[in-house]
Amino acid sequence: MKIAFFDTKPYDKEAFTKLNEQYGYDIKYFKMHLNEETATLAQDYDVVCVFVNDTLNKQVIEILNQSKIQLIALRCAGYNNVDLESALDKIPVVRVPAYSPYAVAEHALALMMTLNRKTHKAYWRTKDNNFSIAGFTGFDMHGKTAGVIGTGKIGKAMIQILKGFGMNILAYDLYPDKEFAADFGIKYTDLETIYQQSHIISLHCPLTPQTHHLINESAIKKMKNQVMLINTSRGGLIKTSALIEALKEKKIGSAGLDVYEEEGEYFFEDLSSDVISDDTLARLLTFPNVLVTSHQGFLTEEALQNIAETTLENIKLAVEKQEYPNGICHKCG
Ligand code: NAD
Repeated sequence: MKIAFFDTKPYDKEAFTKLNEQYGYDIKYFKMHLNEETATLAQDYDVVCVFVNDTLNKQVIEILNQSKIQLIALRCAGYNNVDLESALDKIPVVRVPAYSPYAVAEHALALMMTLNRKTHKAYWRTKDNNFSIAGFTGFDMHGKTAGVIGTGKIGKAMIQILKGFGMNILAYDLYPDKEFAADFGIKYTDLETIYQQSHIISLHCPLTPQTHHLINESAIKKMKNQVMLINTSRGGLIKTSALIEALKEKKIGSAGLDVYEEEGEYFFEDLSSDVISDDTLARLLTFPNVLVTSHQGFLTEEALQNIAETTLENIKLAVEKQEYPNGICHKCG
């Protein structure tokens, strides 16, 4: 079986090549993203394997369908980059629904702790023999309130970590898990209450038409002054222009962003010798109280291994047996 693997990074290649010794598939690792211009590269392949910033719109799916691609294998959980309606009845789509919720939740915690205690700045000061601690005042997490929006696998892992700090947890989800709430002593509430009472708000819901720009001017207005906002889910959950205004007005105290709504062109790439033409991203990077990481929440050894295992098993089951345990549309849904 021939697999066209798009948006390959060295860590992907390492994890998949090692595990593929057991499967023996013919994997061609392409560095470029899958999009309208590169889709024809998949012409002689059976499967395309893609990641979060590959484009699977109507046009790309049409090209893949004409090329007789039998399966779109996402090596990620989110599928907001796939036009499922176009894929329906044409090409089955499978994903990796869970690989390590701890990886993402622990990264969200790293963002929180760094922003709170300014360790990113302390690192550079002491390297420069500057042992002043002025400007580094943080706050005790203990006793503060964290609002967690989306209490699926990652949200729940986040809640358990924050409970360990002695924080009060307010949670919001379309489908509250009452048993989990009782077991961990957390309270489900509405978004308004989360906005009004939380010192830290962490986003763990998927990007859907309903959650697009969930955090906009009106949501921010309701939040506590100096709230810390953490987004490790999808960039489109936050209206970036509203976030920038709120940072300028000092309404928002700090923001930790592992995702950005226009990240596709930038994240995962070394552009250190290039000029950034996205003025919004460039502005975000100027704030001392904003920490941007480029979608690295998933990047732990355990998660990479789980991603490779589930993806290759998804491919084996789908193509060899027409079974789709992790399917998200078509006969695999
Ligand atoms: P999950 O499916 O286990 O949980 C998502 C939760 O969000 C569910 O409980 C669902 O009911 C809830 N939800 C759906 N719509 C909602 C809405 N409108 N309002 C509130 N809650 C809503 O997913 P997960 O594994 O916990 O992942 C969460 C998100 O994290 C993914 O959608 C993905 O975008 C993101 N993610 C990021 C990285 C990274 O590297 N930064 C890695 C994996 C996943």
